[in-house]
Amino acid sequence: MMAGPGRAGGPPGDLDTAIAAAKLGLVPVRTDMFDLGGLHLTSGAGRRLELFVSIDDFMLGGERYSVPSELVPVMLDVSRTTANGYALRLRFTAGVSGPCMRCLEEATPAIPVESREVSQPGESDQLRSPYLEGEVLDLHGWARDALALSLPAKLLCQPDCAGLCPVCGANMNTAGSEHGHEPAPDPRWAKLSEIRFE
Ligand SMILES: [Zn+2]
Ligand SMILES: [Zn+2]
Repeated sequence: MMAGPGRAGGPPGDLDTAIAAAKLGLVPVRTDMFDLGGLHLTSGAGRRLELFVSIDDFMLGGERYSVPSELVPVMLDVSRTTANGYALRLRFTAGVSGPCMRCLEEATPAIPVESREVSQPGESDQLRSPYLEGEVLDLHGWARDALALSLPAKLLCQPDCAGLCPVCGANMNTAGSEHGHEPAPDPRWAKLSEIRFE
């Protein structure tokens, strides 16, 4: 059996997988397209693969975000269904980098991703994966879309980021709890002060 770069073993941790791959003398390489047919799975059989993907930069809320790791380790479970189909599960954790949506400082949240696809040739369109062309899996496109669908509503530098002061724009994470401003004088008081009741 051929030892491909995706068969390093061990958990899908960035470092663990890289170390395991190094021990086996394997240089991790990214997989964009993966030919499931090459696995020669019989009906009902399954395989777990550890592969590496790269994920393109993306724009969100007018800001650019990236996944700096060139090689994101992913775990791909492939099951051959009866009737020549595939049931697929993709899992990985992507370290995203970009501006915090509250305070604009650098945010590097780790986003867990899990996605499933089923493809059953000859069935309705619902059972056709957009990422499978014949038996060739578009792992690059699937990983990108799966991450996009797993993103939280706000990408933050920390879950309880205090954001910016609405008055002066100071970063409230570092400004200290004393940070505050005298309330602006209510313009109505100025008017009142001009009036003199006899
Ligand atoms: Zn923040
Ligand atoms: Zn302020």
